[in-house]
Amino acid sequence: MQYSNQNISFGTCRSTCRTNQSKVFTIREGYWRKSSCDPTKKFETDEESNLPFPVSSTGPLSDENKAFIQKLKVVEDGCDKIARSDYMGISPCRICKKHNHCAEFSTALDDGSDLVWPAGLSHYYEDHNVLPSRLFVEHIERIYKENEKELLAFVKRRQKARTERAQKDAAHMLWYANLNTQERARFDEEQRQKSHTRRMPSAQYMLGLMGGIGGPLYTT
Ligand SMILES: [Zn+2]
Repeated sequence: MQYSNQNISFGTCRSTCRTNQSKVFTIREGYWRKSSCDPTKKFETDEESNLPFPVSSTGPLSDENKAFIQKLKVVEDGCDKIARSDYMGISPCRICKKHNHCAEFSTALDDGSDLVWPAGLSHYYEDHNVLPSRLFVEHIERIYKENEKELLAFVKRRQKARTERAQKDAAHMLWYANLNTQERARFDEEQRQKSHTRRMPSAQYMLGLMGGIGGPLYTT
């Protein structure tokens, strides 16, 4: 397994530390500053100047790293111990600039610390060969192991749903390919009408938005 401990950062010790013996931190993995230039120079916020910038490792990812990425994705999607918070806006990938999600995952660790990481972190690992920190890998591996039964069942359910969906899509494509020109034109027109109807909010809904009777902004 390949690691890089530069990708982890720690929030300050919370004033509500739950134990006197050990300090309780927010452990943050994969939060990056926006620019790769000299961290001593000016950045958009002070906080960002302390964050690392993602650095790609050279050489191919090891099989262990690839397996870890898959476990991380399964934990993110299927583990009920992981909370997801969605935010407004999109965080661009610092390396390739693609839109890379707008959510954060978090979980409470046994010592009272919080572990947080952004959705889209696996994109850095998978597409840019950025390496996870050892601490982050250990926590995710432990969460996976403790919930393995539930997570394997989740993966099975998801795989079944994807297979059913693919079969349905393939059957639909076959059906569509066998339509004659007139039938196909009729079907296309029906779909166009349906999507137009879906896009157009009803008059009652618009009245509601404007504060009309029965609308979401109506108050007595
Ligand atoms: Zn990218």
